[in-house]
Amino acid sequence: MPLLVMKFGGTSVADPDRIKNAALKVQREVERGYDVIVIVSAMSGKTNELVGWVEQTSPLFDAREYDAVVSSGENVTAGLMALTLQEMDVPARSWQGWQVPINTTAAYSAARFVDIPRKNIDQKFAEGFRVAVVAGFQGLSPEGRITTLGRGGSDTTAVAFAAAFGAERCDIYTDVDGVYTTDPRITSRARKLDRIAFEEMLELASLGAKVLQTRSVELAMRYKVRLRVLSSFEDTDQNSGTLICDEDEIMESKVVNGVASSRDEAKITLVTVEDRPGISANIFAPLADAGVNVDMIVQNISEKDYEDHPGSVTDMTFSVPINQVERAKRAMEDARQAGHIAYDELVVDTEVAKVSVVGIGMRSHTGVAARMFKALADENVNIKVIATSEIKISVLIDRKYMELAVQALHDAFELEKA
Ligand code: ASP
Ligand code: MG
Repeated sequence: MPLLVMKFGGTSVADPDRIKNAALKVQREVERGYDVIVIVSAMSGKTNELVGWVEQTSPLFDAREYDAVVSSGENVTAGLMALTLQEMDVPARSWQGWQVPINTTAAYSAARFVDIPRKNIDQKFAEGFRVAVVAGFQGLSPEGRITTLGRGGSDTTAVAFAAAFGAERCDIYTDVDGVYTTDPRITSRARKLDRIAFEEMLELASLGAKVLQTRSVELAMRYKVRLRVLSSFEDTDQNSGTLICDEDEIMESKVVNGVASSRDEAKITLVTVEDRPGISANIFAPLADAGVNVDMIVQNISEKDYEDHPGSVTDMTFSVPINQVERAKRAMEDARQAGHIAYDELVVDTEVAKVSVVGIGMRSHTGVAARMFKALADENVNIKVIATSEIKISVLIDRKYMELAVQALHDAFELEKA
């Protein structure tokens, strides 16, 4: 029988009534002839509550026990979903991660999949069960303990099951009706996309569009799992939501398909760094060791014999998440103390935001950067840092202009038009 994976997020299973609403969607697919693997999150707010209890009990908690506690929310919804389906005469059975088993690494609280043997679930389908309800977000380590996959991890569970079982599609039911050209709270002209390519979705997810865990998109792209994001609160059919798929499935793509923004950015500049081989390595290695997530990097052209500095010097600017500024500063100061780097001053700007345009069409079209910078110039928005990839251009600007910049770019690339 053809197989579908259906994943329901926390707001979609927030109480028994909503679980029933979700179960009706599952029942409809079973009636259409599909076997279904349902992946459930914990009820909304539950995982946060569990994390809070762990931190209150033990601030420097043992990660194995953290996973034992925070994985439990999904066990509740998996059992309730199976019971709800049984009440509707749909043969369903629930599965916790260890029962499948979902084999993962031993990186507690941030585990990664190793493999998902199909045998146990396939056997239940062969016995006549039509639905396997699997607790998302959790797995089993090589030493036989429960692991979790990192926050938002049940999206990734869903994609991993779709890949392992060769599902026709992986439907992610959530509280929005799809993926938008930009955050609809920033501009009412934001438009829901019918389709978007894996690469574009990957950029948007990692740039802060919070619909999907970034890793789930990575995995979907690697295994070519067709992913669909749709609302569990609306009447949906086979064409609802946004399909995230291979670019070959998208006939006509615009040059730019989305504008992403992130306000949680900070910019750090090391002023008058020596300009010689090895200096970038000496700056970015300690940042990496300290777990700082460096995003954009700019090195100025070097100045020869700059005032009282013999030899060449330069300035090095990079951006980091705002909550990592203190960690980054400490890593730089320690490296300076240890004599690995030298700089005159470390300047922090915490009033910045990142705005990006994304589109696979950029690979073959020129002039995207010019159009973007012109649109920002017309609004008098100053660009502080620029970074590009094959399908993305990002700029760092003053945070107070973030919404304005998003609106201007959305208009400039005519994203309101299909
Ligand atoms: N319940 C987990 C979390 O809140 C996993 C998930 O919902 O995806 O992060
Ligand atoms: Mg989620």
